Amino acid sequence: MKYTLTAVVLVASTAIACATNPATGRRQFNILSESSEVALGKEADGQVRQEMGLYGDPAWQEYVNRVGQAIAKRSHRPQLPWSFAVVDASAINAFALPGGYIYLTRGILPFLRNEAEMANVLGHEIAHVTAKHGATAYSRQQVLGAGVFAGRILAPPDKAAWFDAAELSLGLLFLKHGRDAEFEADKLGVGYAAGTGWNPSGMAGMLTTLGRLSEAGGSSRGVPNFLSTHPLPADRVQRVDEIATAARTASSTRVNADEFARRLDGLVFGDSREQGILRGRDFLHPIMRFALRFPDQWQVSNGAAQVTAQPSGDDTMAVLLEVVDAGGQGPSQAGRARMASAKMTEVSGDSTTINGLPAFVGVFRGGAGTEAFTARVAYIAHGGRLYQLAGLATDTAFSRADGLFREAIGSFRALSQAEADRVQPARIDFHTARAGDTWASLAQALSGRAIGASALAIMNGADPASTPAVGARLRVVIGG
Ligand SMILES: [Zn+2]
Repeated sequence: MKYTLTAVVLVASTAIACATNPATGRRQFNILSESSEVALGKEADGQVRQEMGLYGDPAWQEYVNRVGQAIAKRSHRPQLPWSFAVVDASAINAFALPGGYIYLTRGILPFLRNEAEMANVLGHEIAHVTAKHGATAYSRQQVLGAGVFAGRILAPPDKAAWFDAAELSLGLLFLKHGRDAEFEADKLGVGYAAGTGWNPSGMAGMLTTLGRLSEAGGSSRGVPNFLSTHPLPADRVQRVDEIATAARTASSTRVNADEFARRLDGLVFGDSREQGILRGRDFLHPIMRFALRFPDQWQVSNGAAQVTAQPSGDDTMAVLLEVVDAGGQGPSQAGRARMASAKMTEVSGDSTTINGLPAFVGVFRGGAGTEAFTARVAYIAHGGRLYQLAGLATDTAFSRADGLFREAIGSFRALSQAEADRVQPARIDFHTARAGDTWASLAQALSGRAIGASALAIMNGADPASTPAVGARLRVVIGG
């Protein structure tokens, strides 16, 4: 969860144009002129920076930007105001906005084997921009209806709107590309990377890693993973391999594995302090200085704007935490106003304190018919912000859930500076494999629950069923 929440309404010009694309040679229907494409990208870039945040290590930002700029200069649209950044998200992804705004997530970095893999991923994203896949998709969405860019829903009118309301506008940035667009971006991107001197096999290597990860399972909310926005049909790795063979030249040999590994040392893995860190059932936010405990055995997910918790396989109940705009009011006034605008009816409600913090806690009913639900909602003032901590359940599940909701709400507390200082993220480190080491033993001994055995093997370019080679220098995760 980040502290800044914004609503963004993207407005694009409506000058319709059909033009031949220099990258693809195709005539494309485009509503966006280049200047409005850049303006659209720039506005969305502001939203990405504010809602997701950039990873706070200037050396990584400089490095990714330097590699990206070199490749973009050799692309079909060198004149765009290209920008490359690492966003502070633990999901494994890369994405591009119209106009030349390219991002890697912090989470993808340890799964790239070397600089050549990073260069090929950047080349692929650059190609989505030069081929105008995003711009065309944005144009199409605009033709289909302007409503898609309506920003954050301020007052959830029904139960579904409680979920993902804040992620909605951000989700629009993650356009799902089609199979043809993916092949085209692979082909152009590998060509751009090879033309700038990087080994073009990097793309196939990276796709193989992502394929292994997706087989091993695991998902994330908030920011989707690479394969969900860039589908991986069965023949994609094979085809990208053939493209790489064709694109390879005598000078496209740069891999830079050692430099890449050196830079990975100390990289934050999983949740960062800025996002808040989950330790078992406890969610700790050392920057916003609060902690709370979610119900035992519930699945907690830490999105950019919301933290949500649910029993696995049971969607009759959930707990949601987010920061809301108090509008200068106290907890009871602001809380009641929000519930009223969400068309929620107050059953009971009282001003109170929760672990010394001024609060308002009420029970509200909303929805209708089979969608009727009851919520126990707390508004808690802390550190100049107002927190909305809501337990939601269907009417039939509420009596069963309410005890858990009360406990979760009652567990919200301020963190002292000393406690906050002790909350540190997991980080990438290196370990020389010894006889007897297994991926499971390394995952457990070094990193507690920060990474699973399969993901650790895949991070090292190895099959999860293999055993680490004695003496090999391995990427591991420590702390957390
Ligand atoms: Zn793609």
